[in-house]
Amino acid sequence: MRRKLRVLFAAFEASPFMKTGGLGDVAGSLPQALKDAGCDVRVMIPKFLTIPEAYKNQMVHVTDFRVSLGWRNLFCGIEKLTYKGVIYYFVDNEYYFMRDKAYGYFDDGERIAYFAKAVVESLQYLPDFQCDVLHCNDWHTALSPVFLREFYQGLPLYENIKTVFTIHNLKFQGQMSDYVLGDVLGLAGIPAAADQLRSDKDSVNFMKGGLCYSDLLTTVSPTYANEIKTPFYGEHMDDIFRRRENVLSGILNGIDTQEYDPETDSHIEANFGPQDMSGKALCKAAIQKELGLSVDPDVPLVTMIGRLTEQKGMELVQRVIGEVLERNIQLVVLGTGDKQYEDMLRYYAWKYEGRMCACICFNEALSHRLYAGSDMLLMPSLFEPCGLSQMIAMRYGTLPIVRETGGLKDSVIPYNQYTGEGTGFSFANYNAHEMMFTLFTAADIYRGQPDVWQQLQENAMGQDFSWARAAKDYCKLYSSLHPEVTPYKKPADNQDHKDQKE
Ligand code: ADP
Repeated sequence: MRRKLRVLFAAFEASPFMKTGGLGDVAGSLPQALKDAGCDVRVMIPKFLTIPEAYKNQMVHVTDFRVSLGWRNLFCGIEKLTYKGVIYYFVDNEYYFMRDKAYGYFDDGERIAYFAKAVVESLQYLPDFQCDVLHCNDWHTALSPVFLREFYQGLPLYENIKTVFTIHNLKFQGQMSDYVLGDVLGLAGIPAAADQLRSDKDSVNFMKGGLCYSDLLTTVSPTYANEIKTPFYGEHMDDIFRRRENVLSGILNGIDTQEYDPETDSHIEANFGPQDMSGKALCKAAIQKELGLSVDPDVPLVTMIGRLTEQKGMELVQRVIGEVLERNIQLVVLGTGDKQYEDMLRYYAWKYEGRMCACICFNEALSHRLYAGSDMLLMPSLFEPCGLSQMIAMRYGTLPIVRETGGLKDSVIPYNQYTGEGTGFSFANYNAHEMMFTLFTAADIYRGQPDVWQQLQENAMGQDFSWARAAKDYCKLYSSLHPEVTPYKKPADNQDHKDQKE
């Protein structure tokens, strides 16, 4: 049977309608790439009060029905709009979603369980869409595979639906008190469900449901998929990941290659590309001047962009920042986060005026100018499911210095002095001096071996971090669940076989 695979991508947020973090970015970009890769993909999110009016005005009513949730019988409307060629469905229930924010309410457990149930219930009401794969994301939709198997299994329409669950953030798991199991989910009387959802006898863990019930599990980088099988990274779920490792894989996220393009970026002083890097020197001089650093092309300019938290390796930075700044190295940090780190950075910016700058704020335009004008991006994370900053930096010929963990390990090829290959620099252990010596090595190469540096920049800028690459991998995964559906895009498949032969 040759047709498109029909995928319903369920998430609690999707840019540009609602975005509070990385999930919003992924749900905003990946579906379009999936569509281009040949899937019939539709996205489902709640209809939030804060969705811009311009979008709300374009929505049309598709259908409405009732959703049962424990003892409740609730209204559910489905509205639809097409954005960049992809159909978005919005789950309409004013009681749950007509609020100022997406999260942070006393009844989040109930609201989110309602959304997960509405997603599954809606599958029988969507005109001209019979779902093959239900792709759920993070704890907000983790209960959909549970409801699907416990309440809908056996109904002809649901029999062939397979489920994929993607973990974007393992820290947030949706831990609720035990009464939710019966009162809200209606699952207390099903021993297998109760057993798999309980994390201990007093609480229910929504994410555990997704991890135990989904046909396939993915996370946002191959290395992180391996790491979460260990207690150190597994956030108390490592035993499930080890048990289900045969269905667990990692697919590296992409970045928006149009927004982050040094050849067209309108935020930066001068555009540049791998063929002509002269614009990058102008960007460096401009940002040095803007931030009060001495304007000197020969001093390596190292930048950090991101949340100032333990996860991002701030503990290592704190330990050796004084030693680093004693060298002829410039350091800029753009970010907000824990007060302890913000204060520490402000202190060093005062002490090493002209060599260090602490920008304690969130400023997207400045981040573009820094990606373009810096020589290196430091990202010594304790753990990193995927990480975007290092990929963005490489697009701009700014070489990342990373700890070998999660998506950092998968996206940065460390410099090999014997073969000349590499797209950046890396170190293995969560150790401040290991980080510092890696940074010094990079600085020495920057100053002493310009040819090597230029080659590394070319390698970095030549990497493919587009969503198209990730979408291709997701399509393969979906196809593995439905071998009876011949993948729609024949030419791409032939290319695959060719690649393998080579
Ligand atoms: P996280 O774990 O926070 O999601 P990522 O590296 O995956 O980290 O993504 C961070 C994204 O947010 C990048 O696009 C980065 O440029 C941007 N960002 C982080 N902090 C700031 C800031 N203070 N100002 C501007 N952009 C920022």
